[in-house]
Amino acid sequence: MRDSYLNLDEDMRFLNCQDGGKTPGRSLLEPRRISVAPIFSPLIDQTLWHLSKMSAIVSNIISALPKLPILPFSRPEEPESNKERLVPVSVNYFPHRQCNYHCDFCFHTTKNMKILPLDDAKHALRLLAHAGMKKLNISGGEPFLQPVFIGEIFKFCKEELNLESCSIVNNGSKVTEKWLNEYGQYLDVMAISCDSFDPDTNIKQGRTENGKPGHIDQVFRVVDWCRERGIKVKINTVVTIHNWDEDMVDSIRQLNPFRWKVFQCLLLDSENTGAETGSLRDARHLVIREEQFQEFLDHHKELECLVPESNTAMKDSYLLLDEDMCFLNCQDGNKRSGRSILDVGVEEALKDAGFDEEQFFDRMGVFDWTRDTKEQPDSPDW
Ligand code: SF4
Repeated sequence: MRDSYLNLDEDMRFLNCQDGGKTPGRSLLEPRRISVAPIFSPLIDQTLWHLSKMSAIVSNIISALPKLPILPFSRPEEPESNKERLVPVSVNYFPHRQCNYHCDFCFHTTKNMKILPLDDAKHALRLLAHAGMKKLNISGGEPFLQPVFIGEIFKFCKEELNLESCSIVNNGSKVTEKWLNEYGQYLDVMAISCDSFDPDTNIKQGRTENGKPGHIDQVFRVVDWCRERGIKVKINTVVTIHNWDEDMVDSIRQLNPFRWKVFQCLLLDSENTGAETGSLRDARHLVIREEQFQEFLDHHKELECLVPESNTAMKDSYLLLDEDMCFLNCQDGNKRSGRSILDVGVEEALKDAGFDEEQFFDRMGVFDWTRDTKEQPDSPDW
């Protein structure tokens, strides 16, 4: 009887009775570090994937199998280092860098036209799920320029990986009802970028396709479409020299997002600090001081959905995965790609990420990120 029950105490700690007493372990409420890492499944997946790429080698191995000695199998002791393994709970994937907008402050610019084959992307995501990923956010570039790719990724994440949350950050211009009817059921959160409710301001800082107005109307349209389908709506706003004194209270109330993420314009070398750092954009003239950012926040503080993110809170608190499935390290004020998950697996790739887990939790990186299943649409389309 003594050791055959899982006993949980008032602090959500398992009680260990092996020594005749009751020794509490660590609490389930401290999820920052998970001690038991599922080390076998990712290794098996990784191996199978590489084998599938080398069919000739596989057939040689198979033909040699009868000649191989049968060795006894035993699970090795888990190395000490695994006990403090970093868990990639929430991952931001940038599948490609193309965009139809030209925002001056963009910090993920069109430096190449790559996108992985769908199966390779799925393989890397499966490895991440085995390592503890619960939420996947897709960002860009404009992700909806590859609508089938992202739709199939979300479907895979929900149906096969059982992720708690799938979300997407996009500029709203390429979202269609047809896509939502097919893939909306796999999406928990739709985050739409909208920096201003003055069309001229959007055009002034490049939040437009070829200088055309219409961004704001489309944001409202997409928000309605998502609401009808039970998808949570989030609005992302970048505060710059052009909008730090804008009053957005009424418009945000109308859109009524469950989160309004407000970012301070961020400079990253090699992305948005001019040609001298190899950047395609230059946002130096858009940067605001801390006091201006604070003034914007103070002006909108009555809005409960407001989630501010200063440069300090933003820096290093995201796990960013590029088009080659390499984590991006921003610790030095630029973006350095690490080794690909497809080459070295998740644990090794994470060592290159420069991720600050404390910052992630401090900026409330974990929130209510799953759509409300009770909020199903009336429409019989899906
Ligand atoms: S919408 Fe703007 S910020 Fe977003 S990827 Fe395109 S250019 Fe960059």
